[in-house]
Amino acid sequence: MARSAPHTVILVIVTLSGCLAAFGGWRFAKASAPVNGPIVLISIDSLRADRLPAYGYTQGRTPAIDALAADGILFERAYAHVPQTLPAHAALLTGRLPFETGVRDAAGFTLPSSARTVAGLLRDRGYATGGIVSSFLLRKETGLAEGFSFFDAELPAPDAAAPDAWLMRDGAESEKVAEHWLDSIGTSRAFLFLQIAEPHAPYMAQDRFTGLSPYDAEVAYADEVVGRLVRYLKAHQLYDRATILLVSDHGEGLGDGGEQTHGLLTSDSALHIPLIVKQPGGDGGKRRVSVPVQQIDLVPTILALAKAPGAGGLRGRSLTPLFGTGSIPASPIYSESLYARYRFGWDAERSLIDGRFQLVTRGASAQLFDLEAAPAARTNLAAEQAGLVSTMKATLAELVGREASLAAAPVTPTDRERYEALGYVGVPGSAPVPDAEQPDAETQVTFVERYRAAVQVARSDRWRDAIDAYRVLTTEQPGMSDLWMHLASTAARQERHEVALDAYGHALALEPGNTASHLGAAASYLRVRKLDEAHSEASAVLDIDTADAVQKAEAHEVLARVALSRKDAELAQAEAAASETADANRPVKAFVEGRLALDQGRDAEAVEAFERALATAGRTGRPPLTDLRVYAAEALVRVERTPDAEQLLRAELSAFPANVRARAALQTLYRASGRSQDAAALAQH
Ligand SMILES: [Zn+2]
Repeated sequence: MARSAPHTVILVIVTLSGCLAAFGGWRFAKASAPVNGPIVLISIDSLRADRLPAYGYTQGRTPAIDALAADGILFERAYAHVPQTLPAHAALLTGRLPFETGVRDAAGFTLPSSARTVAGLLRDRGYATGGIVSSFLLRKETGLAEGFSFFDAELPAPDAAAPDAWLMRDGAESEKVAEHWLDSIGTSRAFLFLQIAEPHAPYMAQDRFTGLSPYDAEVAYADEVVGRLVRYLKAHQLYDRATILLVSDHGEGLGDGGEQTHGLLTSDSALHIPLIVKQPGGDGGKRRVSVPVQQIDLVPTILALAKAPGAGGLRGRSLTPLFGTGSIPASPIYSESLYARYRFGWDAERSLIDGRFQLVTRGASAQLFDLEAAPAARTNLAAEQAGLVSTMKATLAELVGREASLAAAPVTPTDRERYEALGYVGVPGSAPVPDAEQPDAETQVTFVERYRAAVQVARSDRWRDAIDAYRVLTTEQPGMSDLWMHLASTAARQERHEVALDAYGHALALEPGNTASHLGAAASYLRVRKLDEAHSEASAVLDIDTADAVQKAEAHEVLARVALSRKDAELAQAEAAASETADANRPVKAFVEGRLALDQGRDAEAVEAFERALATAGRTGRPPLTDLRVYAAEALVRVERTPDAEQLLRAELSAFPANVRARAALQTLYRASGRSQDAAALAQH
């Protein structure tokens, strides 16, 4: 034993020194070499930091995010720059503040083609870059695809079972696309950006998670998606080498300050987001950092990790020193919401977070909050901290002093409907309202909340409630023509044309040249067989310069229908032709042919013409022309294709339950085929 001891000692020393050398070299390599695994940026929409167990929440269910936090560094105080999905992601991916990217609202703004995203900067360094997003708000046309070799923003086609499909894609579907992309690139030198739309409202995952609030259920669902991606990375030996950054674009009101969702307020609930960074090798796991950080810090951080040269003029700070024991320069954090300004003409809201304090300004008013106080105990300290308020106001003014104007592109009516469904109500690009005419801040929040609620009520086909809700809103803000238009179109859908025509009247008094109001009024007049009025409203559209081709086509269609009612076949055909010249995807010619054939007893020809018109609707994905299915059913019954007729009428009633003509036709069909029970059931609706 004693004799062998020296050998043992030598052996131990050699092994140890070898270890130390290897360890030191590894440390050195780690400090100087770029990460060699994938960089994965996961953005979970509308995720509030304080709704995650990793941030102390006791009611959520997020095992995947908990595990990531255990393997990573958790930033206790990370903030968003805008409580809106598109502007926030524009800031997140470019490392620039909203007034630098120029993307100030969800609608009407796109990232300019000159902007560089972190994807573009990494692609220049030889990275494969893949972006997979799940929201209509981030579709390719927003400009966010810049720098991504692969960008997938596909949304599933809507159907009866999933009417919201065109708003967002299920996170699990997006994650599958991410896996396919990672499978396909054949390199681990990759940057993956995966955006998950859950828990963005409307919340739909509740059925899958019992015992959780609708919001928490959505968060639990998003967590499952994160879990799938982590499982994939582990199964492909990529997890340990991967750098994973998990973040949100903004928070969610959940009633704080009166706001349920997000967009309007820059409160702590709207801006405080989670940020978790898992480094390669799980280094630095279970650490928590309390330094306030912001979304624009992520681009410099990712560039530092990849050892890519920084882009010029970035204000953000690389957070990498905080991964160790280093520090970063302090910086106030800027946030804004131009929602009230851009959509209603009211004052914008801005926020500056500096250390423990947050300044929130709106017009001339300023509020100061101590973020170290418990949320429930926070009060406005502006009066007692006047000096701090004026210093912070000056910083804010200096920051936004050079901001560009709010010039935005026009938003199509279809897109506007989509934005509204996602909570973006009001008229994009509203003119500023003088201070004296603006409702107070509290009234604004309540009003916007009820406007959003009315849109959701209408979307869930509760038409009567929606009419009531819009009625109340028009009483409160009688000067907003878009509210009158909502009331009008909702009432028209319910076949309440008197209400509709009165509301269109108000809308047109406020905005005489509004083509959509003229068209809506024309359609309602036609429905109640006031042909002269219908004719004059439709003709008005053709006299308005701003009417687009689709609107002109609609106006000609109304004129064709008026001509049909007046038994003027020639004029009807001429107007139908004019309609199709303006919009080839509007099958008015076939519809008019069918109507004429039906009137003259040429039933087989009528069926053929109507089927052609229906085929166009099927091909373009647009709803069939008004009552096309009802007339086609009539023709089908005449040629004894009753089952086909029934199918059409049922489809019409499922889309427009209030269509009295369709209901009457289906009842007649049931009675004629001896199905009195079905007829009775239909009458009870
Ligand atoms: Zn969002």
